[in-house]
Parts: sequence; C-alpha cells; structure tokens
Amino acid sequence: PLDALDNPGLLRTQALINGDWVGAAATFAVTDPATGRELAQVPNLGRAEAQEAIAAAANALNAWRSKPAKERAAVLVRWQQLLVKHADDLARLMTAEQGKPLAEARGEVVYGASFLDWFAEEGKRVYGETIPTTDPTKRYLVLKQAVGVCAAITPWNFPLAMITRKVAPALAAGCTVIIKPAEATPLTALAAAELAQQAGMPSGVLNVLTADAAQSIEIGQVLCESDVVRHLSFTGSTEVGRILMKQCAPTVKKLSLELGGNAPFIVFDDADLDSAVDGALASKYRNAGQTCVCANRIYVQAGVYEAFLEKLSAKVATLKTGNGFESGVNVGPLIDEAALHKVEAHVADAIALGAKLLAGGKRLATEAGNFFEPTLLADATPQMLCSREETFGPVAPVFKFQTEAEAITLANSTEFGLASYFYSRDIGRIFRVGEALEYGMVGINTGLISTAEVPFGGVKQSGLGREGGRQGIEDYVEVKYLCLGDI
Ligand code: ADP
Repeated sequence: PLDALDNPGLLRTQALINGDWVGAAATFAVTDPATGRELAQVPNLGRAEAQEAIAAAANALNAWRSKPAKERAAVLVRWQQLLVKHADDLARLMTAEQGKPLAEARGEVVYGASFLDWFAEEGKRVYGETIPTTDPTKRYLVLKQAVGVCAAITPWNFPLAMITRKVAPALAAGCTVIIKPAEATPLTALAAAELAQQAGMPSGVLNVLTADAAQSIEIGQVLCESDVVRHLSFTGSTEVGRILMKQCAPTVKKLSLELGGNAPFIVFDDADLDSAVDGALASKYRNAGQTCVCANRIYVQAGVYEAFLEKLSAKVATLKTGNGFESGVNVGPLIDEAALHKVEAHVADAIALGAKLLAGGKRLATEAGNFFEPTLLADATPQMLCSREETFGPVAPVFKFQTEAEAITLANSTEFGLASYFYSRDIGRIFRVGEALEYGMVGINTGLISTAEVPFGGVKQSGLGREGGRQGIEDYVEVKYLCLGDI
C-alpha cells in the first residue's frame, strides 16, 4: 500500500537525532496488521542513541526556550499546515501500520494536527502573576518557565495524535523533546518528524528514537534515569505507567500519564434510544475498540434493555470488517495476535459465565490478518473479565440495571477513571450522575468527546495530568516565585 504515496519522501525509515536522520545496523520490521506483511525496517536503537538524543535536546534547549513564544508558534503552525497538506499520505501510512480504516486515519491526522495550532496559541498565553504585597519593602512576582528536556513515550492506537498532544504543549512552552513512538507504528511518527523538519524545527528540538519492544524498555530506562530529562509523558497501559513512575522516582521527574480506562456507558430509561445506540456504536467500535475511552461496559436500565439490544444488534450487523484500505470498511484489524487472544479470552469467559452472544464472537474466518468480528454480548455480569478489565477490542458487553444509584455504583466499581458516558434527557439526573461518576471525562448524550480544546485525562489509576485544553500546557511549565526586596 505504501507504493501509492503521493510523496514517497514521507516514508522515512531512519530515526531523527539532533536534526540528522540516523540509521543503524540493527533494525526491526514494521508490519501491516491486516495482511501480516512487512512494510519497512526501521532502526532498533538503544541506550547509546537515547543518550545522544538527550544530549541533543539539552543542547538545543536554551536557544528554543529563549525565543519569543510567537516564533515557536510560527514553527508549530507551519508544521500543522504541512500535516494537513499531506493528510492523505499520513493516513495511508497510518492505515498500513496500524490498521484503522482510511477515513478514520485521515480524521486522526486532522485531529492530531489540531493540537499544534491550539498550543501554538496557548503558548502565547503562559501568563505569570503579581501578588499584592504584605510588606511595603517587597514585591511578589510569579513566572512560568519551560520545564526543560521532555520525553514522550507513545502508544500505537493513535500513532499521530498521541504524539502531537504531548509534543505541541511541550514545544510551545519552550521545552525540547525526545519521542519514543510505539514499536508497531513508527512510520507515522517519522513522517510527522520529516514534516516538522520541513516546518523549520531547529536541530535537537524534536528527536525521534525508534526501537522494538525489548529496546524500548532500555530506552525507557535511560530516559527515566536521566536527570537532564525533567518530564516524562506516557500514554499506554496502567501496568507500564506504574513501571515508568517507579523508574522516575529517583530523579523526582514530573509525570503526565494517560493510562488504561474501563469506560462505563449508561443508558437510562428516559434516554433517546436511537441516539444512545448510535453513541454506543461509535464509542465501542471506533478503531476496532482499541482506544482508552472506548465504551467497555454498557449498562442499560431494565425498561429499555430489550429495545436497546434489538436496535444495537441491528446496527452491529451493518458494520463491515476488513482491510482499512477497502472502501466501506468500519472495523479494521486488531494490532497483533496478543490483542486477538485477549479479546477471545474475554468473549469465552463471558459466555462461560452466562452471557448471551448476539453478534460476532470469533475471528474473521475469510481473511488473513488480525481480524475479529464486531461482537455483542447480552446479560453480562460484574464477575466477567470484560467487566473488570479493558478489552481493547470490538466486544460490547451489555449489563442490565434497575436504579440510578445501582448504575452509579456499578460504573464506579473499578480502579480506572478515564472516560464515562451516559444517556438521559432528565436535567436533574444529568447533574446528579455527571457529578457522581468518578471519571476525568463524562460524555452526556454523546459517545465522542475528544477535541484539542478540552482537558483530556483520568482520575484514580487512569493517570496524572491533563492533555489538550488550556490545562494541557501546565505540565510543561514550572512556576517560579520572584521576591523583590529593598523597594
Ligand atoms: P499498549 O498496551 O497500548 O501496547 P504499552 O503500555 O505496552 O501499551 O506501550 C505503550 C508504549 O510504551 C510503547 O511505546 C511501548 O514501546 C512502551 N513501553 C512498553 N513497556 C515499556 C517499558 N517497560 N519501558 C518503557 N517503555 C515501554
């Protein structure tokens, strides 16, 4: 599929350190999850290159943070424009290595790029403050300054947006960055880095280190242990988040973590049922269920339970599963064999514990690649794995509940707290439930909540900090208090 790029120069198969494209003797394969075919080989870097990238980012820091925010913004805006200009090629690269349908991939390019112009503007508004004095001989001032060298470790489910969401606020604030993209999806990251170079990013300000799973652990250790790196931003599993947090303790690094979710999606008796069905479909099956905000547990009140299942079954039957390059496909492959195993295990466990299979339930027999049929399970219970763990696949377990209080208790009974959703037309209930859900984000009468202008993030074991919005730049600045005496 990559032979069809309009601009073949975007297929970058080297890493970026200090403005130089660097190869390595050791490489690893990037494969297409829809076919299992190899797409490219990229450098399998390690400790030495991580040290080089840290040195480059440290070296570039002073010049970059000393620029007026407006000059940094100009680079970010040019980068955003180039990403949008090359959206078709970036989408092709993304679909090839990640699997999501081409239209979704294109949507991610535009969404991912939007963090750049949003934070280009926010970077101009990193305001300090003056504090009324309590001593006539003194004045109190507060400045906000760039944190310094930042590291970003990103996942494969949004190969571009999870990078720009971290890198844009960091760069806008005056930080320099080292990115370690997921081993499954380095090509999108490298293409984006190529466009950053074309946008005029100074050498060393943005560095990209590619590595396979094993070497990613090594690079992670170097980034965490370094006392030059002052901030680590990570999106991925809670399990890896805990490891990184521990590794960052000795250097007391600032941390931004976007970890796992286990999103409840609640449909009350008074909901607009068609809208709830559409919302559930979008929230559950987008990216083949591989987002940390995908509905994981669908709770439906008894009065509309049967009607909801009937309508949702009908919609699930219209989904087309297949290669993301084929037109009309809404559900692409899962990222790898391990993801398929997890989904199979969740479905088998649910059925063994009494769930009723209404759609799907198995791998797609007709295709090579990691395809799983969009699956719908009724009569799910809290004992099931799919209730306790994030499935990260196209499986919708539906639970029946009786009262509002019961729904809230069920929804909150997890260590996670990222996204949640509910459908109701009752204004009192909207406030009560909106306030009671222990989640960083609540979608009310919608299944899609992400946009660059809002604070995205979780509570409990779903993470630390917020990305996007006015809040998204705060993790990348330090507050400094100046006390002026002898006035
Ligand atoms: P997912 O479950 O989405 O694959 P992971 O948490 O396993 O998420 O991986 C997300 C990112 O974290 C990837 O870039 C991966 O290479 C990286 N990663 C995984 N384990 C470690 C680790 N021990 N140290 C540093 N990075 C890691």
